Amino acid sequence: MASVELSNIRKSYGALEVIHGVSLTIEDGEFVALVGPSGCGKSTLLRMIAGLEEITGGDISIGGEIVNDLTPRERNIAMVFQSYALYPHMTVAENMGFNLRLAKRPKAEIEERVGEAARMLDLTALLDRKPSQLSGGQRQRVAMGRAVVRDPAVFLFDEPLSNLDAKLRVQMRAEIKTLHQRVETTSVYVTHDQIEAMTLADRVVVLNQGRIEQQGTPIELYRKPANLFVAAFIGSPA
Ligand code: ADP
Ligand code: MG
Repeated sequence: MASVELSNIRKSYGALEVIHGVSLTIEDGEFVALVGPSGCGKSTLLRMIAGLEEITGGDISIGGEIVNDLTPRERNIAMVFQSYALYPHMTVAENMGFNLRLAKRPKAEIEERVGEAARMLDLTALLDRKPSQLSGGQRQRVAMGRAVVRDPAVFLFDEPLSNLDAKLRVQMRAEIKTLHQRVETTSVYVTHDQIEAMTLADRVVVLNQGRIEQQGTPIELYRKPANLFVAAFIGSPA
């Protein structure tokens, strides 16, 4: 587990600034949801935490250390996307162990960690299958398993459930919450679905056009929205 601190983060694409000085502290072990309408900057913020996108201004710390200049691999984070990006020619076990093989971990350790993650995610019976032989939910579980085996201090999720049907989405929500608790990690979860955010997160951060409108527990946001934008987005009674 590690805390994540964003301090006056800015991001421009060319002359266009899309993140306008966001400051946010995420505590060790917390589950924080970043919500907001499409285009408000959720993915950009997450990608900057991951190190996949350069920041134009400000500092990002993970576990108290400024990571602005560290590569994604050096940041001890794992990211789960909506597209599972599994390797089609590899089995489930090979997909899950891929990052550990890259890191040249011993074979026995890889097998042990893949086995453990598979038990946690109910994938043990599927380890020899190829991604094409799995359902959408199972593929998303493999993508989570691939993240889990790296034992990251921070989990970043970018709309991981958007490709799944409604029923499966509800089931996977519960699995993600359980995973967060069992792996004892810090999670930052991006979604445009306010219900998903409200049911999953300890704290919800509402973004609008590259700025934080409000942050608080789901109950606080629902009961005391700071403005009309938040009220409309969260669906508070008018
Ligand atoms: P969200 O994930 O909330 O839908 P994004 O972070 O993807 O929003 O995008 C935030 C803003 O930044 C949008 O206006 C988007 O058009 C812009 N943007 C994102 N990526 C790029 C890019 N590579 N080049 C230029 N503009 C981008
Ligand atoms: Mg996005």
